[in-house]
Amino acid sequence: MKHVKTTIISTGSWIKHHARLHTLVAIAVFVVGMGATVYYWNNLRQSVEADMGAAFERNGEAIGSAAMARMQQYENFLRGSAGLFILDDFIPQADWDRYHQPYNIPANYPDVQGIGLSRYLTKDQVPAFLERKKAQEGVAFTIYPEGDRDVYVPVSLNAPFTGNNGRAKGFDGYTEPTRRKAMDTAAATGRPAISGKIKLVSEARPDRNSMILYMPVYERNRPVTTADERRAALIGFTYVAIDTTSFMEQVMESAQASGMAIQLGDAERPSGDRQMYESSDFDTIRGREGSKVETMTLEVYGHSWIATIAAAPDIISEYERQLPGQAVWRGVLSSLFFAGLVWYLITDRERKYARQKQEEVQSAKDDLLSLASHQLRTPATVVKQYVGMLLQGYAGDLSKQQIDMLTNAYESNERQLDIINQLLYVARLDAGRITLRREKTDITRLVRDVAADQREAITGRTQELIFKLPKRSMFAEVDPHYMRMVFENLLSNAIKYTPPHGRLTMSARRLPGQLIIRVADNGVGIDPALQDSIFEKFTRVENALSTDVNGSGVGLYLTKQIVELHGGSIEVRSTPGEGSTFIVRIPTHKPREA
Ligand code: ADP
Repeated sequence: MKHVKTTIISTGSWIKHHARLHTLVAIAVFVVGMGATVYYWNNLRQSVEADMGAAFERNGEAIGSAAMARMQQYENFLRGSAGLFILDDFIPQADWDRYHQPYNIPANYPDVQGIGLSRYLTKDQVPAFLERKKAQEGVAFTIYPEGDRDVYVPVSLNAPFTGNNGRAKGFDGYTEPTRRKAMDTAAATGRPAISGKIKLVSEARPDRNSMILYMPVYERNRPVTTADERRAALIGFTYVAIDTTSFMEQVMESAQASGMAIQLGDAERPSGDRQMYESSDFDTIRGREGSKVETMTLEVYGHSWIATIAAAPDIISEYERQLPGQAVWRGVLSSLFFAGLVWYLITDRERKYARQKQEEVQSAKDDLLSLASHQLRTPATVVKQYVGMLLQGYAGDLSKQQIDMLTNAYESNERQLDIINQLLYVARLDAGRITLRREKTDITRLVRDVAADQREAITGRTQELIFKLPKRSMFAEVDPHYMRMVFENLLSNAIKYTPPHGRLTMSARRLPGQLIIRVADNGVGIDPALQDSIFEKFTRVENALSTDVNGSGVGLYLTKQIVELHGGSIEVRSTPGEGSTFIVRIPTHKPREA
């Protein structure tokens, strides 16, 4: 029987070994899946980043060209205004106003604070200029700030707009370095030039910053090819004063760059004093997760500017932004799914294979069982008869040695028959050929009878048997023959698996409708992991004593089957090294459906 057990165990370890392999294959599939996921995720992430970069560039360019287009328009204004001086180099304020009226600047260009002419005068030209001005306008003209200078560039014509206090007239912008630099650049190059960050003298709102675009105006019919010629022919500068905040608001609106914010500064100022404009949502957009921020310096109309552009992540669609994240969880899910599928397919095949193997083993065992029980019983019985006859002296007197040898043969043959009988019962049970003949049976008495039969074995191992039985008889409707086998098996196991001087206990008690019989020992006990398998057919479990004792591995199988045929149950409680208790519950009456 050991052989059978080995087969089962090796099937088990075969499965275990392969289980490790499937797990490895499944993990490999998962790892490959995750590798592909990471690769795909990275590609998507890069393309989202590239798209974000492209959208950023597009929007940035839209802002840039809107700003340039607006500036160009102002440049064109100035060219038109400058053109007036071809007709008359001392045009009156009223003509200046009339000329600009049709543009309807307050409505169309709310960022324009004023359009004017700053007259370029050397010191000796000033008195004649003041005279002419007074003659033309009827009131005295004053240049401010006062002071003795080589050159004066006072505002001589101006058209103030939107909230402007009109105080610019007479103001000599050349006294202020930022304006002066722009004027010098314009005069020298003959092209429009812009100032950096300034405060207009006519500014009514002190929080606002402005810039002024200057265009040089030359006397008619004078050569203006070289810088010196241009300086000599210079009449002054037409200019447009621009409110930066309003200018940038118009620019951002016409660029239609939603999700973008900008910070504009004068790069030629010390860093603490640069800022000219900041979109109201600049900090919010820059602070958003996934936003993109870039700072650049630009040269526009002869001045350096610094612009920081921030783009919110939604300059590209939410759908696109979510692609990489979605790829990750889709990848994880499908990797898990395929790993699981592969694992299932392999294990399923192997489970089927293992099951088939086990069935084959079982059917081989059943064949063997039936062969053993039927074919071995008859010859073994014949041996028993003949040896018995010899011992009884039917063939004449025997010597002491002959009697001893025959007695040994007789006992061995009895054990053999016991096993054959057990196998026969198993064969019958499996074939469903056992029918119970129930009768009212005194269970206490049955327990005592079984114990009495095995008294010799108990005393032979110098063990002690204790009964804990009620005084009054306890009856149950059972098949006494089979029930006896139950207690015989349990008690003989207790004897076998308990070392000499051990203590065995048989106890019984009654509960409503059922009896509970316990067979306990303080023997070797059973490994908890194997406690379920001991009730299986042909299962022997190795322990300290199992090599010394005989056994077929079917005793507990038969016991359990018989108890269950009676509608009862059996369980074991055991601690290795401390002992085992088998607990049998049987109904006192035949269960209705059984
Ligand atoms: P057998 O005794 O012929 O091996 P059984 O079916 O009666 O077969 O028992 C199965 C296994 O259960 C035994 O091999 C033994 O290891 C274990 N076993 C049964 N009864 C006891 C017990 N009282 N104490 C310890 N082990 C036991």
